[in-house]
Amino acid sequence: MPRPDLHERLRESRAQREAQQRTRVRRSVTRRDGARYEVDGRWLIGFCGNDYLGLAQQFGVVAALQDAASRDGIGSTASHLVCGHHAAHDALEREIADWLEYPRGLLLGSGFLANLAVVQALLGNDDLCVQDRLNHASLIDAARLADCRLRRYPHADAEGALRQLRSVPEGAAMLATDGVFSMDGDIAPLRALMLAARMQQALVYVDDAHGVGVLGTSGRGSVALSGLSAVDVPLQLVTLGKALGGYGAVLVGDEALIQHLSETARPYIYSTAIPPAQAAASLTAVKIARREEWRRVKLRESIVRLRTSAAAHGLELLPSDTPIQPFICGSEARALAYATALEDAGYWVAAIRPPTVPEGGARLRITVSALHGPAEIDGLVDTLSRVRDRFGDDVAAAPAAM
Ligand SMILES: *Cc1c(COP(=O)(O)O)cnc(C)c1O
Repeated sequence: MPRPDLHERLRESRAQREAQQRTRVRRSVTRRDGARYEVDGRWLIGFCGNDYLGLAQQFGVVAALQDAASRDGIGSTASHLVCGHHAAHDALEREIADWLEYPRGLLLGSGFLANLAVVQALLGNDDLCVQDRLNHASLIDAARLADCRLRRYPHADAEGALRQLRSVPEGAAMLATDGVFSMDGDIAPLRALMLAARMQQALVYVDDAHGVGVLGTSGRGSVALSGLSAVDVPLQLVTLGKALGGYGAVLVGDEALIQHLSETARPYIYSTAIPPAQAAASLTAVKIARREEWRRVKLRESIVRLRTSAAAHGLELLPSDTPIQPFICGSEARALAYATALEDAGYWVAAIRPPTVPEGGARLRITVSALHGPAEIDGLVDTLSRVRDRFGDDVAAAPAAM
C-alpha cells in the first residue's frame, strides 16, 4: 500500500470545508482606535474583541511598554529557568497573586500553553480529568496530551460532574472548568462544582480567561464572584490577552502546585519567557483593572443596555451577565449572512460556527466593552433588528446550543 499523499488529503479536506461553508478567512486590521477597527479600507465598530475594559490601547499601559522596551528591548532571550526570567515577570506574578488572593503566580506564554502545562504536569495516564462539555479547546487538548482519562459532563451540570468523578474511582482527579464560557457567556456553577469535587477528592481548576478583570469585587473574577477562595479552588488561570488587553497568562495557586509546575511543566520550561516589556505593560494593566471600578461600571451599563434594547426589539440573546452576548442563528449560512449584513452596515461581529460551537448552534458572538458608548450599542441592536426583519424571524426555531 502506498502512503496516502498528504497534499491530496489537504485538498479533500479543503473541498469539504468549502462544501460546508466552513472555510476560514483572516481579516487584516490596518488601524484600531478604541472600539473602531479599520479593515479593507473601511472603519467598522467592533463587537468581537475581548478588550472588555479598554486596556489594550490605554495610554499608561502603552507608555509602560515603551518605557520598558527602551530599557530591556523586545525579547527575554531565553526561557525562565535559563536566563529569561526578569524582575518585570516577577512583579507581574506577584501583583496578580496578590489581586486574586493566592499564594503564588506563574507566568506562561499564553492561556493555551498554561492549560497544557497544568494538566500534563499534574495528571498521568492512571488519572482522571473531568470537564464541562463546553470547555475551551485548550483544556480538552491538555487532557489528551496528558494521556489521562478524560470524562466530559453536560454543560454546567455539577451532578453530571459528580457522576463522572464517581465512574472512575481510582487515580488522582481534577475537575477543570471555564469560569465564563467563551462562546456562551454564562458563568460556571462553581460552588456546586466545588462541592462535587470535594466529595470525590478532586482538585478544582478554573480557567477564568473571560472572568478576571470583569466579574467580582475589584474584578477578581468568577471564583471570587461565587464567594470562593484559594482554599476551594487551589488553581486558577488568568489570561492577559482578554480583559487585561495584552498577551500571556498567569497561573495562580498554592505554593506546592506552583513550585511543581515551575519545575516540571514542559510548556513552561521549554518556551521563551514573554518579553519583559510585555510583562511591564500587563503589570500596569492589572493595576488599572484593580483600581478603576468605573470601567466595570460602564461595561455593566452597556451589557444591560444591550440586553434591554435587544429584548424590546424581540431579539433573543442567550442568558448571560458577562460581556459575551451570543445571538443564536442555528445554521452556519444564516450566521454568516447575519455577520455580512451587519458588516455592510458598519458593525464587525464574529459569526462562530462548528466545530467551535456544537452543530446547529452557529451564532453571532457579540462582545461588549467599556469602550462602547450608548449610541454604538443602540446602533448595533437597531441594525440587528432590521436584519432579522429582512431575513424573517425563524431564529427561535433553530436548534439551540447544548
Ligand atoms: C482565550 C482562552 C484561552 C486561551 O488563552 P490565550 O492566552 O489566548 O492562549 C484559554 N481558555 C479560555 C476559556 C479562553 O477563552
